[in-house]
Amino acid sequence: MDATIKRRQTQQVAIGHVMVGSAHPVMVQSMTNTDTADAAATVQQVQALAQAGSEVVRITVNSPEAAARVAEIRQRLDDLGCDVPLVGDFHFNGDRLLKDYPDCARALGKYRINPGNVGKGAKGDDKFAFMIRTAIEYDKPVRIGVNWGSLDQALLARMLDANNHAANPKALDVVMREALIVSALESADKAMELGLASDRILLSCKVSNVQDLITVYRDLGSRCDFPLHLGLTEAGMGSKGIVASSAALAVLLQEGIGDTIRISLTPQPGEARTKEVVVAQELLQTMGLRSFTPLVTACPGCGRTTSTFFQELADSIQTYLREQMPIWRLQYPGVEDMKVAVMGCVVNGPGESKLADIGISLPGTGEVPVAPVYVDGHKDVTLKGDHIATEFKAIVDQYVQTRYGEGGAKRREVVARTIPIKSV
Ligand code: SF4
Repeated sequence: MDATIKRRQTQQVAIGHVMVGSAHPVMVQSMTNTDTADAAATVQQVQALAQAGSEVVRITVNSPEAAARVAEIRQRLDDLGCDVPLVGDFHFNGDRLLKDYPDCARALGKYRINPGNVGKGAKGDDKFAFMIRTAIEYDKPVRIGVNWGSLDQALLARMLDANNHAANPKALDVVMREALIVSALESADKAMELGLASDRILLSCKVSNVQDLITVYRDLGSRCDFPLHLGLTEAGMGSKGIVASSAALAVLLQEGIGDTIRISLTPQPGEARTKEVVVAQELLQTMGLRSFTPLVTACPGCGRTTSTFFQELADSIQTYLREQMPIWRLQYPGVEDMKVAVMGCVVNGPGESKLADIGISLPGTGEVPVAPVYVDGHKDVTLKGDHIATEFKAIVDQYVQTRYGEGGAKRREVVARTIPIKSV
């Protein structure tokens, strides 16, 4: 992890076999968009998200039909060798579903409870209490997940009323942000009064505006030591969703705030749900917080590159590296830190190639049609002809095997880094 980032100290919470908190790397999670009642589709999507690198996957549990399939979904995933913990996302009727479907309560690794929509008044308190008691009974952690769009209206009304009678009333947006935080903290207090241990609670306060999210989480983080789930809700589609989520989360992560992240992207038509996992991983990796997959450095291209060849090569190498990771992760420890450069011409090409573990500098317009390849900072070979892409992939494969395989120099570096230092 980047040494300049100091994590906010928190409790450590176990979600099944996955630990979340300041003593552990920032965890990546995601959520399905299948109907949970369709067990086959849900199993397929959970498995895809887990294979992409989601360490926990949340599923909607919104109806008896959905709750009835959760244990089966868990079993089918286990049978496939996919042990990713499942989180049940409950709203409105969570108490009833957990009561009527104990197998569902048992199969889930965590319950997400939104205090804004468990119900009003004493009835709502009873429903919340039932869900917390169920979590205690089955030894599950809960995320108290407050959301701007479903903020507890009774709490907000109470706070607005108090604000109106204050000597120096605060602006509406300030009161609303405070209401989000109070909702999360008061609910956590209630859960602990009911007997839930403090290390079984995570909090989130999601909003859809970047500046509000940063302000809310800074404040929330300073007022408790629960691990925080970060996410910009309704981030949107495509580049807007990615940019907005990254802008908000990067500021907080840089300040050490946030123990698990989800990027709430709206998939573009035909786009894989796994995109949100890739974005979350790339955010953490480009910030130096974690490494997941070798990343390709590529120049943007310019008038010196009139063909799309180098863009296609950069894209196909990145895709190839990502596709190999489920196998490489096991076979080649440390390969996730490998840096590959694919550059468009000789202006910056050799320089970037030398800084990467392995790099190629393609010929720009008017340059000699050759592509020098650098390995560990030294020129290794010059490729030419029609098979540059295939030959470069073979060189990358060879590099991975020799450097990160049994006895490889990079593998030895990783092992040396991870051997615990004993005090004498
Ligand atoms: S490395 Fe060459 S092709 Fe790439 S942006 Fe720079 S000048 Fe353009």
